[in-house]
Parts: sequence; structure tokens; C-alpha cells
Amino acid sequence: MATPSYRLAAAVTAPSTSEFLVVRQLPPPSPPSTAPGEEEYRRYVDSDLYDLPSAPLRRLAADEEPVPPGVAVGGVEDGRLDLSRFDFPAALDQILNQLGLTSAMCGEWRLLKYAEEPEFGPDAGVNTVLIVGSLESKPEVLQDSCKWMSKEGAWKLLSGVKPGGTRIGPYVYIAFPKPELSSNCIAASALASQEYPPGLTLVPMKSRTLSPFRTTNLVVVQANGGACGSKRSDFFACGDALLIDPGCCSQVHTELADLVNSLPKKLVVLVTHHHNDHIDGLSVVQRCNPDAVLLTHQNTMKRIGKGNWSSGYTAVTGGENICIGDQELQVVFAPGHTDGHMGVLHVNTNALIVGDHCVGHGSATLDSRAGGNMKDYFQTTYKFLDMSPHVLVPMHGRVNLWPKHMLCGYLRNRRAREASMLQSIENGAQTLFDIVSRTYCDVDRKLWIPASFNVRLHVEHLNSQHKLPKYFSMEKFQSSYGIHFFCRWAVAYALSRTSPAILAGSALAGGLVVAYALGRNAGNQPQDSARR
Ligand SMILES: [Zn+2]
Repeated sequence: MATPSYRLAAAVTAPSTSEFLVVRQLPPPSPPSTAPGEEEYRRYVDSDLYDLPSAPLRRLAADEEPVPPGVAVGGVEDGRLDLSRFDFPAALDQILNQLGLTSAMCGEWRLLKYAEEPEFGPDAGVNTVLIVGSLESKPEVLQDSCKWMSKEGAWKLLSGVKPGGTRIGPYVYIAFPKPELSSNCIAASALASQEYPPGLTLVPMKSRTLSPFRTTNLVVVQANGGACGSKRSDFFACGDALLIDPGCCSQVHTELADLVNSLPKKLVVLVTHHHNDHIDGLSVVQRCNPDAVLLTHQNTMKRIGKGNWSSGYTAVTGGENICIGDQELQVVFAPGHTDGHMGVLHVNTNALIVGDHCVGHGSATLDSRAGGNMKDYFQTTYKFLDMSPHVLVPMHGRVNLWPKHMLCGYLRNRRAREASMLQSIENGAQTLFDIVSRTYCDVDRKLWIPASFNVRLHVEHLNSQHKLPKYFSMEKFQSSYGIHFFCRWAVAYALSRTSPAILAGSALAGGLVVAYALGRNAGNQPQDSARR
């Protein structure tokens, strides 16, 4: 298990008010908007995101002298933390810099909270130390990127969101949670979880997913005492709790059963798609609560065996509203990854649960054997962009705070790959192996097999747009799938290893991967996620 990293976040309050300072967060870097091909992405800009100022917090090496932290524990005793083992002064300097303040302007710092991040992967978690301090006096001028905010103002922006409106980041919510907003559904559970945005709890659970991830996010929404949303009568389904994608593997089925047993009995379950790492816990949910209502697309249901869900289900096609207490969700048809793939919008917070359309790191593969389709994938990506979500919630990895940035990155990546495939075809590539080996020459050859599924869909997409040269034969291309591709790949994979011992091992590994890939051809395929 890799070592977690740490971050320091600070709530700087004004004297005699409950206001604190927030900083406008910088989006991740993008290509310059004047770069070729960037015109169409210019209109997709994420709205302003404000959060508490934060900075990396370095853990001191074992042989380093402790640094006086300058932070009083102040009533929060937490045995998990030895403050003297961190370089607080360096992190605080960075934070004060963001605010345009000096340490002389601040009084004593107190530890407010320590939050350990659950295992979202693929890297180790980022644990957050939250401190609070008060200014001696309110500065007359603030930096442009900073503003004062009250808890009430932050809660209003977190819970009554409007597309395009100002967004509030997770540190504010960790520092100042509001019980009425929280569904607080698994507080008593042994499972590590994270609630952000308010009302959506993510529980990363060990699953049969493929590298680099090890977990699937189970999304839990629970009624928090409020009445079923407003007076509307057009809800498609109502319940006191909702589970999305119970896909954990058998090693954690006991924990899943405990969680289901702790939830209210009026339970709605939604499955985004049929892959094993999204449905492996369905039978546990049904055993613990036989009255639970399952919602999914009919194309997904026909691929879910009776062993996973033995009774009836309710088909959804997108657009259905679900009410869980005073929280409202909307089902979104999102084909591309598979032909029955669904997303879910958490309306209260404008957070979009995207299933496997996006993953927290890299890009998702499309399942060509379950109706995965590149044209659908592009259309769904544009649909998501037009919805202007505040947050994207993938089923693998962390929530993403820059939805438009991420979705445009997916479009750029797919377009770049497609252009490179067209180029290799124009340079004479005719078979699946030709195109994969030329397009992915910079990628580890063991990833060429999953990449080949996307190549098939890209070439079909190019064909449907009449972009392929006349001399390119789709029949010949399609006849090069399967064993033809795997044999050529196995040779190329073995040749990429130079030593005789590695060569022999690689040939054996190649044979096993061929057998595995052929075997997978016949059954369900969990999603995979390197940038392909
Ligand atoms: Zn999947």
C-alpha cells in the first residue's frame, strides 16, 4: 500500500464574525484557446470554484529534526496525527501567500479536523489537516481571488445550485458540514466513505475492476428527514435511500450487507451498466432487502444474470425523476461505454454521476461487445457538457471538480487518436493490428489488446462519417479482428522483450493473455482505464 500524501487547508476567520476567507481555485492547465482545433472548446468553461486555501503538507523524513508546528491541538485530540512530524510553517506560508496575508496578522492556529481520504485510487489517498485561525483585524483590501463567506452563504451555494453558478469546494464542506444537508448514511459503518457534494456519499469498495483501479464507488443517497421533494407527483420512483452500482467483490460482501441492513427499507437501486464491477453486490442487496426496487436500462438488464437479481425490475430510458426524501435525482441516458449505459444527475447539487463514461484518471474503454459505440460516446459527452454539471462523479477514482475541463479533455484525446488512426490508414495500414501498432507505438504493448477495442469503434466511426479513403476495405479490416490480431500481437509483444529468458516468459504470458482475451470475448468485461 503506497504512503498517503497530506494537505493543509485553513479556515481564516474575521474577528467577531463567523465569516471565513475562500480563494478562487485555478483550473487545471488547458491548451491555449488560440491553438488549432480549440475553437469549439472555448465555450465550455467551468464556473468559478471557491474553496478554503490549501497547500501540500510535507511529512518530515524519519531523520529530520521536528519543526515546531505553531498549531495548537485546541480541543481536537486525534491520535492519528503527530503534528510535530509535518512541516507546517512551509505549508502555512503558501496558504498566507494565496490570501495576501502575513503570519503577524494571524492569531493562534487550532486544529479543526483531520480527514483521511478513502481509497479511491489509483494513487494513495490525500489526507487533509484542517486548521482554523482568526485575524487580529479585518484587512481593508483583499486580493481579487479572495472573498469573505459565511457558513450560511456557503451552504446555500452547496445545496441550491444553479448551472453556471458559483461553486463551493470540498474543504469548506469538510470544515463546516451542515447536518441538515448531510445524508450521513454510513457514519456508523466500518467502511471509509466521503460525502461531497452534500447528500452524495461515495464508498469506494474493492471490486473486480481492472488496473490501475482496485475499487468501484458505491454511491449512497439517504433521506435526511425531509419530506419527499415538494408537492410534485411526477416522480418515477420514490424511496428513503438509493444505492448506485453495488459492484463490490465477494471479499467485502459482509460489509455491503451491513450497510444495506443499516439503510431504510424503502430502497431504490440503480445500476449504470452491466459490467461485473458494477453489479457483483446486487445479489447481496436483494438478499438483505427483497423489496428493493431495481432501476436500469433494458439492454443492461438482459445482460444481468438471474443469479445477480432474481425478481423483476423497472426499466428506465432517461429523463425519469427519482425522489429520496427531499433530494431529487434524474436518470440520464448515456450510451457509448455500452448501449444501456446510464448516468444520474443529483439535482440538488447539480452533480453528475457518470458511470464508466469517465474515470478519475485516464480514459475509459468502450465495450464493443455490449453496444459500445464511438458516435454515441461523443454525443453523450456533448450532452454532459451542455448540462453544465458542478461536479463529475465517476465510479472509479475521485470526484472531479472541473467537469467541462475533463470532458473536453476526453473529446480532445478521442479526436487525436482518431486523427492518428486515419493518418495510419492513409499511410497504408489495412488491418486492426496495423492500425493499433502504428497509433499506439508509444504505449506499452500489453495495453494494445484493450486499445484494439477502441480502435475498432473509432474506425467504424470514421466509416460512418465517410472519412475513410476509398481504397480502404472495411471487410478486410473486420476480418482481421480476433485470432488474426491476437497472433500478431503476441509475436510483437514477445519481440519487445530482449533477453532470451524474458522472451520465453513473454511468449508464455502472450499465450495466456490471448487465451484470457478470447475467453473474455465470450463474457462480461469489467471496464479498464488507461488513457487509450
Ligand atoms: Zn464498465
